[in-house]
Amino acid sequence: MSHGFQVDPWELRWNSLDLGALERTESVFALSNGHIGIRGSLEEGEPRVLPGTYLNGFYEQHALPYAEAGYGYPEDGQTVVNVTDGKIIRLLVQDEPLDMRYGRAVEHHRVLDFRSGTLRRDTVWESPTGRRVRVRTERLVSFTQRAVAAIHYEVEPLDGDLQLVVQSDLLANEPIETASKDPRVAATLNSPLVAEDAFAQDRHAVLVHQTPKSGLRVAAGMNHELDTDDGLRCDIHAEADLARLTAAVDVPSGSRLRVTKYVAYGWSARRSAPALRAQVDAALSGAMQTGWAGLLAEQRAYLDDFWASSDVEIDGDAELQQAVRFALFHVLQAGARGELRAIPAKGLTGPGYDGHTFWDSETFVLPVLTYTVPEAARDALRWRHSTLDKARERADALGLRGATFPWRTINGAECSAYWPAGTAAFHVSADVADAVVRYLAATDDVEFERDHGAEILVETARLWCSLGHHDLHGGFRIDGVTGPDEYSAVVDNNVYTNLMAQRNLREALAVCERQPAVAERLGVTDDESKAWRTAAEKMVVPYDEMLGVHPQSERFTEHARWDFENTPEEHYPLLLHYPYFDLYRKQVVKQADLVMAMYTRGDHFTPEQKIRNVDYYEPLTVRDSSLSACVQAVMAAEVGYLDLAYDYFAEAALTDLHDLHANVRNGLHIASLAGAWTVAVAGFGGMRDHERSLAFAPRLPDQLTRLAFRLTYRESRFAVEIDRDSASYTLLEGPSLTVRHHGEGVPLALGAVERRPIPALPARKAPSQPHGRAPHRRTPKM
Ligand code: BGC
Repeated sequence: MSHGFQVDPWELRWNSLDLGALERTESVFALSNGHIGIRGSLEEGEPRVLPGTYLNGFYEQHALPYAEAGYGYPEDGQTVVNVTDGKIIRLLVQDEPLDMRYGRAVEHHRVLDFRSGTLRRDTVWESPTGRRVRVRTERLVSFTQRAVAAIHYEVEPLDGDLQLVVQSDLLANEPIETASKDPRVAATLNSPLVAEDAFAQDRHAVLVHQTPKSGLRVAAGMNHELDTDDGLRCDIHAEADLARLTAAVDVPSGSRLRVTKYVAYGWSARRSAPALRAQVDAALSGAMQTGWAGLLAEQRAYLDDFWASSDVEIDGDAELQQAVRFALFHVLQAGARGELRAIPAKGLTGPGYDGHTFWDSETFVLPVLTYTVPEAARDALRWRHSTLDKARERADALGLRGATFPWRTINGAECSAYWPAGTAAFHVSADVADAVVRYLAATDDVEFERDHGAEILVETARLWCSLGHHDLHGGFRIDGVTGPDEYSAVVDNNVYTNLMAQRNLREALAVCERQPAVAERLGVTDDESKAWRTAAEKMVVPYDEMLGVHPQSERFTEHARWDFENTPEEHYPLLLHYPYFDLYRKQVVKQADLVMAMYTRGDHFTPEQKIRNVDYYEPLTVRDSSLSACVQAVMAAEVGYLDLAYDYFAEAALTDLHDLHANVRNGLHIASLAGAWTVAVAGFGGMRDHERSLAFAPRLPDQLTRLAFRLTYRESRFAVEIDRDSASYTLLEGPSLTVRHHGEGVPLALGAVERRPIPALPARKAPSQPHGRAPHRRTPKM
């Protein structure tokens, strides 16, 4: 048992009724397909913390508050809306409402099953007057029918015959409370939905609503199958914010009442209420034609496929094995069927960060999807492409050329009211470009390159050329920007930003050569490509000769060090206890920045520089962002601090299961979950994808005896298996390819297992972290 969850390789099981833990379990038990997300609240609606049902891209707009506004500040914010709740099924047991706060939970188990893609519940409840029922539920958000969720609900009287009444609801404008002062918590919106249509007939109902400001319209529909003995009385009605099916029946001892509830959602900025109603009716018909058993079978087949091409196996730490599969499952849920919509930082698991997407998506999540479910990565990038006009307008408003992608957004428009860490974080544009480059190298998708990728690369290259300038010595400088570390802002020549911009410029040149017709259509001239080439060649990358390290931005290493020794542990995260003014002028790093550059642009650094830089930045990095541990793990593994990498692996993988940032109630940290894969594959597997090829440098920490993972590259699927002394590479499907193992080329042909020894690495003592910020020393949990 760990933090309430039973350790199991393929499921996440919770075996008790701990209502205080609901805020955690609602998030970790959330189901989603990237299109619809429903939190893991109990079917009976209460008790609950945040009941949340989210639709990708469905938000309300509101003015951003400024005490002192300035030119070019974004005016409107966007917040994800908790839409019509379709998961509520209330139960009356002989006139007593099933409510886990009353009576007694004789048994209560909940299981998130990574292979069936369902959330199951098994509860034996004794009512305050001593009547016992068993309630078994199973629910899913379909990967195959993306507008559909379904719940199978079963009640069995345990002490003689009982009258049962089931009420199945669609409920809009559910009141929700937030009591947090944490600025990262979503601003709640009261009653965000205005009723437009309510319809109910037989066992079928639909509610249509619209948001007043963003003008988005949503239809939610439900239909039911009831399977019971005779004597059933059924009513249905619908009003503005509520549709309810009520089914009353006497259930004799030994029988069961079974209800299958099908729920469908449709939403749009353009479609009319009748059109959306028709859309959800059609989705419901489709789901009912497939049936509950059919939906279960489709879900399992989809996941069988996913695990066959994406599984990560870990021997030596059972809890981490579970955590990594949990992580992959949620990354899949966040991205699988988003199709032309963003992947938010919390996926669709909670209202945190207002439901916005950040660089998290391209930098952390898309690498996982690129090598496991490439079409999901492509669709997320097509969404970015669809926002290019907004990105061009934003660049124009800032007096720049090309396109600048927003720091945080739902619909593509910048929503950050804090420009030093929002607008100034220009690296997001290079991150998007980099995700395009990675996707293209991994798939050779020429159609995507021609129709979407090339334009992103060209417009972002234009941005860098207008944002930077050549100094008197010819060096190309990018001044006044913010890198990944949010405890520094508006700095000159952030190494991460400059190196990512350099790659962006070079890749724009390369794509224009491959796609001359697109280059012509976009008006790329010889002078322009020459400017890109020179900027890339002359890119300034500051280096501190005296210390022999790279400052993360110019003069960083000259700043005063943060007084870590006198910073109490309860003052982390620092942003909630100290002014940015002070954080910005000191050497204190919120999250990997220079260390991040050494991962994504590892080709720029020598092995010695990597060691010195890791040694320099470890004692300054406080990991106040969940995006840091995984990157630090990857670089710790590369330079040979395998124990440290293992501790960070656990931190990244267990961020949500152990609620390490004490905010999982607001949703999961999808980038950190993706980071668990990254540590396995890029950390201990040592995978790097510079230069349009794959290289591995595997090495396991003492605690693990075996690590295996599967990847898709171009048309090929292959498996990597690593033990203490050697690694093997096996092509499972597709054309031959060559990968590198610790620098040596390894040709892979179908059927042959290529095994190579792992060279020894000299032992070195790992650096320490800031006072009180060392990662938890992990001992494997079996
Ligand atoms: C981090 C950002 C990240 C955002 C959303 C912030 O705390 O500093 O890098 O994009 O969270 O996850």
